[in-house]
Amino acid sequence: MTSTQPSPATQPLLGATEIRRLAEEIGVRPTKTLGQNFVIDGNTIRRIVAAAKVDPEETVLEVGPGLGSLTLGLLDAAARVVAVEIDHVLAAKLPSTVAAFRPEKAGNLDVVLSDAMRVTELPAQPTALVANLPYNVAVPVVLHLLEHFPSLQHGLVMVQDEVADRMVAGPGSKTYGVPSVKGAWYSHMRKAGVIGMNVFWPAPKISSGLVEFTRREPPVTRASRQQVFAVIDAAFAQRRKTLRAALAGWAGGAAEAERCLREAGVDPTARGEVIDVAAFARIAEAKIPMTA
Ligand code: SAM
Repeated sequence: MTSTQPSPATQPLLGATEIRRLAEEIGVRPTKTLGQNFVIDGNTIRRIVAAAKVDPEETVLEVGPGLGSLTLGLLDAAARVVAVEIDHVLAAKLPSTVAAFRPEKAGNLDVVLSDAMRVTELPAQPTALVANLPYNVAVPVVLHLLEHFPSLQHGLVMVQDEVADRMVAGPGSKTYGVPSVKGAWYSHMRKAGVIGMNVFWPAPKISSGLVEFTRREPPVTRASRQQVFAVIDAAFAQRRKTLRAALAGWAGGAAEAERCLREAGVDPTARGEVIDVAAFARIAEAKIPMTA
């Protein structure tokens, strides 16, 4: 069997020289505020794309394409890439970078100039999220997208390594907290590796972690997502306190908090860090009056 299509592994990706040249062409100086650390290593891009297990039929949502390092790798693996970028200079440059490095794929890219924490409409329904996320907003971005785009079935995101550990933590772990429980509402999250600092320009001061996720149904409950998230926020706002004390404000008193906890089958002297998302959903439900 012969093929004229180059395999994804042999397609050129952006290295340090190309990234610096592209940045210079458009006068971009990476800013910390927007978490601009660009990947300058093709092997890291191949590793991320392989770990994301993208099907060739899929539409991938990429947040923060930057100068296009990951975008090129994703275009090799997926049918379509929808790239949401907040920086208008980077967003404007991306189509010409793709046209130069992947002319045959240029029609498979949509660039959306928007804040990924606010975007609610996209030109196509993505089934996967794959992104090297701006670190300071990584968790809110993932939660916002999982909430607003139910078509997203799976994904792989690169975040600060310590944030990755928090996202994938289970009850009882020291790193278990709001990102872990809210993430678990939507999906099953697993750590998929650690990435060193020198594959970025500029190099960050800490390592990055890969988080892979698969969507799952949230716990069955009469409580809304917002009601469950209010309990989670209250429990972890005072994480050293017992749930009875931490949820007193939310419930309208410690006695009512205790009643909700007992009805949910949760020990009122336990702390939020030991209970799972299903238990948080039961607590939220216990506060909702039964209707006829
Ligand atoms: N994907 C590129 C790469 O791997 O080289 C760049 C990743 S860089 C860590 C993060 C990117 O997200 C930057 O391009 C930055 O401008 C963009 N960004 C920052 N905040 C954003 C937001 N709220 N919505 C969309 N993009 C954002």
